Amino acid sequence: MGLAMGVIDVVTAVYPGSFDPVTNGHVDIAERASKVFGRVVVAVLNNPAKDALFTVDERTEMLATALGHLPNVEIAHFSGLLVDFARQHGAQVIVRGLRALSDFEYEFQMASVNRKIGGGIETVFMMTANEYAFLSSSMVKEVARFGGCVRGFVPDHVARRLAEKFRPAR
Ligand code: ADP
Repeated sequence: MGLAMGVIDVVTAVYPGSFDPVTNGHVDIAERASKVFGRVVVAVLNNPAKDALFTVDERTEMLATALGHLPNVEIAHFSGLLVDFARQHGAQVIVRGLRALSDFEYEFQMASVNRKIGGGIETVFMMTANEYAFLSSSMVKEVARFGGCVRGFVPDHVARRLAEKFRPAR
């Protein structure tokens, strides 16, 4: 980078989420984070209590394709505490995306807890591009479930995977 980013270049950030599936909003945040931090670990949450459409392996594979153009981004998955995962991967920062105001309260709560138990880890919020401000994985799944077009919301390969999932069984 042309900017004086010396310090931040050595910082590893973890970008956690369900990514069920990855949307263009997630790609936008990962791209921004990859420009600011030396290394970004995108971490897929494996939460058996949460009903996911795609398996962790499927979500990881879609992320790897969607973010393959970013050389300093890796994909991993975790269960348990995010701060433990961050520590194991040498990450000093947690990156989260912020969309509309409605994200704020939940994110504020999580960041406060992670600060308390995280032993110095900082949460950094990045604002999404305006066009993705109302985009969520659940909205995309809802549209795809009823046969709507999700192009522009997700990468093309993800749109194909969604169509396959919801194709009526014959
Ligand atoms: P979670 O279940 O942890 O909220 P998500 O996969 O829905 O996981 O989101 C992961 C992260 O990406 C969160 O920080 C969320 O705010 C952010 N995010 C989701 N959709 C968008 C979007 N359209 N623009 C920017 N950030 C987003």
